Amino acid sequence: MNAAAAQAFDRLCAGAPLSEAEFERLLLDKSRSLRQEARARAGELAALRFGRTVHFRAIVETTNVCSRDCRYCGLRRENAALRRYRMDEEAIHACCGQAYRLGIRTFVLQGGEDPALTDERIAGLVRSLLASFPGAAVTLSFGEKSLGGYRKFFEAGASRYLLRHETADPAHYRQLHGERQSWWNRMACLHALKDIGFQTGCGMMVGTPGQTATALARDLAFMQSFRPHMIGIGPFLPAAGTPFAGMSPGDAGLTLFLLAVCRLMLPDVLLPATTALRTLDPSGCRQGILSGCNVLMPNFTPDEFKADYAIYDGKPRTSGEASLASLRAEVEAMGYRPGQGRGDWMPLAGGSAAGGEHDA
Ligand code: SAM
Repeated sequence: MNAAAAQAFDRLCAGAPLSEAEFERLLLDKSRSLRQEARARAGELAALRFGRTVHFRAIVETTNVCSRDCRYCGLRRENAALRRYRMDEEAIHACCGQAYRLGIRTFVLQGGEDPALTDERIAGLVRSLLASFPGAAVTLSFGEKSLGGYRKFFEAGASRYLLRHETADPAHYRQLHGERQSWWNRMACLHALKDIGFQTGCGMMVGTPGQTATALARDLAFMQSFRPHMIGIGPFLPAAGTPFAGMSPGDAGLTLFLLAVCRLMLPDVLLPATTALRTLDPSGCRQGILSGCNVLMPNFTPDEFKADYAIYDGKPRTSGEASLASLRAEVEAMGYRPGQGRGDWMPLAGGSAAGGEHDA
């Protein structure tokens, strides 16, 4: 580990805010010692703060219709080869009911930006799910909506919203999304969600074409100041039918290091070991938890639709009870247990690993 990186790492562990340049120094030092030390410290911190519990969320991919053209995503509008689907309310209830009976108390409804899925329909769905499944939380992930739309979802009872910022670098954002999608609007949506009162999640892929250490350092600096409640970080994986098909996937080791840095930077954050990480690395669940992750999202999308939610190639095929059972077995084999209840974000007392002032 070089001296500049070691200094930045000490400051991170002490709960001090880092500059973008310091984050970049951490990223440029690729030594095993730094990466291992960061992951070990982050894993210990999470185990200490969350008492070796991992929260399970049931993800239901409700529609693969999308009006956007993100260059990395298999759901992009221009991918004419994809068979499109949209689940009806009854089918979504059936998936959530299955998860509920298995003890899961958070439903994550995710989908493309589907014009038929109006704000009213989303709000109605949230209301009916919360009425049918007492004590459950609904997390939404339907991309960029209007301020009025987000307010309707919140009033209907949705309490969390996941919207990855994808990259904190506007020029990189253009490389990934073209000229028609606005980085400024993405950022405005994230701020609106937080202002409304959602537990808000942001995040990015690791290894997208054109991503530099400087761009990743900017991501970390953005998250440090935005203070999201949830962070989703997974490797970029190429998807058929996109301009990035055939490109190299992101690096699992770098993904785990970034997860560890996020845990050390924001000790209370809800941090999933993402499906993309588990797809790239068969030991991704275990490695993620050992690097500070405390959330897993088993997939409850019905088998008939699962393969069509093809955001990247090679997504795992198991779903529902089997998906939950295999993740639960991995967690329990590590001496961790499933968290009880909704698993909301909570500011925990006690500051950072080394006693810094991290709590909200
Ligand atoms: N439409 C919503 C949105 O944009 O937030 C939610 C659905 S979108 C498919 C969910 C996330 O999948 C994106 O934020 C992106 O980071 C991730 N994703 C899409 N394509 C991917 C790929 N090829 N590799 C890894 N992750 C990908």
